[in-house]
Amino acid sequence: MKAAIVSEFKRQLEIKEVPKPTLGYGEVLVKMEACGVCHTDLHAAHGDWPIKPKLPLIPGHEGVGIVTELGEGVKSLKIGDRVGIPWLFSACGECEYCLSGRETLCTKQQNGGYSVDGGYAEYCKAPADYVARIPEGLDPVEVAPILCAGVTTYKALKVSEAKPGDWVAIYGIGGLGHIALQYAKAMGFNVVAVDIHDEKLELAKELGADFTVNGMKVDPAAAIQDKVGGVQAAVSVAVTKKAFEQAYQSVKRGGTLVVVGLPHDELPIPIFDTVLNGVTVKGSIVGTRKDMQEALDFAARGKVRSQIETAPLDAINDVFDKMESGKINGRIVLTMN
Ligand code: NAD
Ligand code: ZN
Ligand code: ZN
Repeated sequence: MKAAIVSEFKRQLEIKEVPKPTLGYGEVLVKMEACGVCHTDLHAAHGDWPIKPKLPLIPGHEGVGIVTELGEGVKSLKIGDRVGIPWLFSACGECEYCLSGRETLCTKQQNGGYSVDGGYAEYCKAPADYVARIPEGLDPVEVAPILCAGVTTYKALKVSEAKPGDWVAIYGIGGLGHIALQYAKAMGFNVVAVDIHDEKLELAKELGADFTVNGMKVDPAAAIQDKVGGVQAAVSVAVTKKAFEQAYQSVKRGGTLVVVGLPHDELPIPIFDTVLNGVTVKGSIVGTRKDMQEALDFAARGKVRSQIETAPLDAINDVFDKMESGKINGRIVLTMN
């Protein structure tokens, strides 16, 4: 099968013929239709983070395709089902986190397109218990970004504990952010969108942002404090430290900063302000299988829709270049045929 492969960090991916995966107990083979390109894949290809991915690696954790083979013991899926292969590729099922419905914190989890091969390929295998079932009627290409960008931002908004009518700020209107703001609107929040590119803010307005701020032109935290008295929750999905600092400063007393973007950097938190203002700072990592069902249900009901462009698998290096220079508006989804 054809796949895009990272053999060495910071090198171009190679498009190569590799053997089709062989199935183990409980696994299914999926013929990929599409796979979204998440900024995490770029971090993986660059070896940006303290925990490195396996090498060689087939990246991709927004994969959607059709089950074409069932491994021994698979009862919950049948051939022809459409499924998604996410970042939370598998978990142990028996630790305190798995047992309490917080499997995204399992220390024995595997991650699609990181610790195991993912969706930048014609075929991908995955455990039947952890694939997402794609609701009927959704386009496989359009739904792909929900598998990471969607579930991650939906979960971040849930853990922010903002209530309908509250103001929420989204920092970074990229692949994650443009979907985040749609979940935020669907959940009844008022939304401020912050980015450093005007065309992304135009998209944010089209998607329903109540106001937008270009962080290159004005101090977004000051603008937010001035206009709405601070937000109940700020979600930072940007890839620069500066955005996290500004997101922190945008939060009002009693509010929450949800940390989602993953620049390999430190976030200095002022102790005095955090204490006096009763501010919460929370990390949020993708979403559980239940969060995934809910996130997909919003998409199935037409409440969120990713803004996509497609590219063939072979074009992955160009897609990464565009992502690095901030030139993607919405998400690029690789198509496999
Ligand atoms: P992306 O490249 O599509 O979007 C990043 C956006 O941030 C761009 O629109 C860019 O213009 C904007 N930006 C850059 N600097 C900014 C600034 N100073 N202020 C405001 N906006 C700024 O990336 P993506 O695919 O949306 O991923 C974003 C980050 O989230 C990555 O680090 C990725 O690894 C991480 N991520 C985390 C999780 C999780 O579970 N926590 C899940 C998926 C992705
Ligand atoms: Zn992702
Ligand atoms: Zn576990």
